[in-house]
Amino acid sequence: MIRAVFFDFVGTLITKAGENVTHQNIVREVLRRAGRDDLDPIKLWEEYEEESSKLFKGLAGKPYVRIREVDTEAMRRVAERYGFDVPGDFWEISMEMHARYGELFPDAAEAIKKLKSLGLHVGIITDSDNDYIEAHLKALGIYGAFDSITTSEDAGFYKPHPKPFQLALQRAGVNPWEAIYVGDNPTKDCVGAENVGMVSVLLDPDASKQPLWGNCDFVVSGLSDLPDIVRGLNESP
Ligand code: CA
Repeated sequence: MIRAVFFDFVGTLITKAGENVTHQNIVREVLRRAGRDDLDPIKLWEEYEEESSKLFKGLAGKPYVRIREVDTEAMRRVAERYGFDVPGDFWEISMEMHARYGELFPDAAEAIKKLKSLGLHVGIITDSDNDYIEAHLKALGIYGAFDSITTSEDAGFYKPHPKPFQLALQRAGVNPWEAIYVGDNPTKDCVGAENVGMVSVLLDPDASKQPLWGNCDFVVSGLSDLPDIVRGLNESP
């Protein structure tokens, strides 16, 4: 019997396209403050993404360090290359741009509402700092929609370490086999969830992760498929 559904955040509740626009605007603002209109914001954004993804790859499954510091370090490495300083309020700029440009998947709010109407606990498990996820969810107008929000900051580890998943299950008061985790990363999300005994669902709208579908129990192209998956699991003998 499924009693809880947990969501990843970036790429699952909010779109990667919106996240890219957000990061581009962070880089634009940093360049504006530094007075470096001569530099191409898109090129620097690409370099920032590369540095950031390198740093986060090294952190998978590891003890938590504040994401604001990781993101700032990624920006600092790019800035150093071009000889300017990262503004002291880089994190405030980042939070503001996330609030302004973050974009929910169009079917996210409705899917959450439907799952709640089935009597399920609906939560979030995310690699995030607490201040970031709270501000971002409030800006999206869905902060109140979740019964629990569990971050790597709360758990002390990054996904796919079992801790964030176990802490979320404990907060919801459900067993792992009674819970679904929905994410867009077949390795961190599906493997992390399955390692603790949860049911895993991969959100893969463009089927680009097909080679890794085997890591996941279910693959969906949209969040609106979730209520049917829950009903199917709860009706099967
Ligand atoms: Ca994600």
